[in-house]
Amino acid sequence: MLVRATNWPLLGVSAAYAAGAQGLGVHRPAVQAAAYEVIENSALFDFEKIQLTDKVLLAHLSDVALFAFGDAPDNALSAHNNASFPKCKSLPGDPTYPSQDNWASLNALSDGALIKTVPIGAVCYDGEAYDSRRCQFLLDNWNVSDTHVGDPSSVMSPIFVGQTCMPQDAVLPGNNNSCTLGGFPSYSLNVTTVAQIQLAVNFARNQHLRLVIRNTGHDFLGKNTGEGALSIWTHHLNDIKVIRQYESAGGRYSGPAFKLGAGVMVYELYDAAEREGYTAVGGECRTVGVTGGYLAGGGHSPVTSIYGLGSDQVLSVEIVTPDGRFITADETQNTELFWAVRGGGAATPSCREWNGTRRRWP
Ligand SMILES: Cc1cc2nc3c(=O)[nH]c(=O)nc-3n(C[C@H](O)[C@H](O)[C@H](O)COP(=O)(O)OP(=O)(O)OC[C@H]3O[C@@H](n4cnc5c(N)ncnc54)[C@H](O)[C@@H]3O)c2cc1C
Repeated sequence: MLVRATNWPLLGVSAAYAAGAQGLGVHRPAVQAAAYEVIENSALFDFEKIQLTDKVLLAHLSDVALFAFGDAPDNALSAHNNASFPKCKSLPGDPTYPSQDNWASLNALSDGALIKTVPIGAVCYDGEAYDSRRCQFLLDNWNVSDTHVGDPSSVMSPIFVGQTCMPQDAVLPGNNNSCTLGGFPSYSLNVTTVAQIQLAVNFARNQHLRLVIRNTGHDFLGKNTGEGALSIWTHHLNDIKVIRQYESAGGRYSGPAFKLGAGVMVYELYDAAEREGYTAVGGECRTVGVTGGYLAGGGHSPVTSIYGLGSDQVLSVEIVTPDGRFITADETQNTELFWAVRGGGAATPSCREWNGTRRRWP
């Protein structure tokens, strides 16, 4: 996405976030390799050039049905084409829930990116994950956003996962609570390419699986989590590119802009803008994801009264549609979608790859 920048002296914050990827717990079949094709296009980030295409699917014949695009006419597995699927999404234990082999295929084709969920609070409970120092850290820092941002599945509104693995509960005297998954997703895919996002979208649709997207975990309404779900974890798509002279497709904007990956956080955008002598429109909280729920919900900023909402700054968006196709939406192409994703609400209407291009202010 492209955003304008001002010359206001808003200070960027330096910080490093460790990815909290936990044990994969999924084996990789020896016969399979990551599935992608490199599509050369100078307008794209490198990670966007790595795509899932029809050609790639044909080369992985054994798994083609699991990962077929939603618009493939012979996609019999797709819930869209299969009336026998129940109305509700599959949960672990249901006959329609993906088998371990199917999860292993997703892991293999996505180059080992699948993470089996271990709730962040598990370090406070008896079991493999127990870690007293880490537990104490959670107890001391539970209400700090940074504690949760780098974890694949932690959410900042734990009521939506049923508070089934709270560190505070584990240490209550006489408490024999156990740590369970509750409303956490079963798996997260740590995506670093567009192909992995496409694989996840196709797999979830074809397996009648709940699909959620987690960026930073800030969602107040818990739309970033879901029982039994596959979660697309966008945290590591944090590329930022400065475009000194951007011409928007429809001629609405001409000037400097930023192209941002789906995982870029507010402070990272502010840092980049400050280095260039500009300020971009972003949120007050430094770890909110700029191109995730922030822009989808409109996006309020300390400078909104001057420059408008965050969503007003968007010039172009790269999206993975529910069919699994990778498209660009801007003023001249896929215009309805371009309109909808700028304020239509988080998690609608599709899984955005959200490698957006945003305006900067001079
Ligand atoms: C402490 C705090 C301070 C805040 N400050 C501000 C502020 O100053 N201004 C403001 O406007 N808002 C603010 N917010 C609200 C914030 O913008 C929303 O909570 C927003 O939804 C967070 O988005 P995220 O991507 O960072 O978080 P997540 O919880 O990871 O995602 C939020 C929602 O967006 C969806 N989503 C994320 N990425 C994508 C994607 N690539 N494609 C499709 N869907 C996606 C998720 O599924 C989820 O439903 C604040 C929230 C908190 C908790």
